[in-house]
Amino acid sequence: MKSEKYNRSVSLHCPTCGGGMFEYDQGVDETIELVKCASCGRETTKDELIRENSENISEHAKEIGNEFVKDAADELRKSLKKAFRGSKHIKIK
Ligand SMILES: [Zn+2]
Repeated sequence: MKSEKYNRSVSLHCPTCGGGMFEYDQGVDETIELVKCASCGRETTKDELIRENSENISEHAKEIGNEFVKDAADELRKSLKKAFRGSKHIKIK
């Protein structure tokens, strides 16, 4: 049995569904090693998966950054509104 070839977990995530389990099939040629997502069945080469993951990671970091900035801005706006409500004579410096 060559079951060891399959269901090997790779510390990468599927760009399509975000799944972290892949079936890894080592091809005849080392350059065409295929990985297949266990969740959605997407097939891609190992190199492509790694490339897409590095793009994903930076995209994700950007998204988190934007969300954080947006939340912080919302919070600031809310607390400013409260400050305005609390006093009729507020001065903005
Ligand atoms: Zn997937």
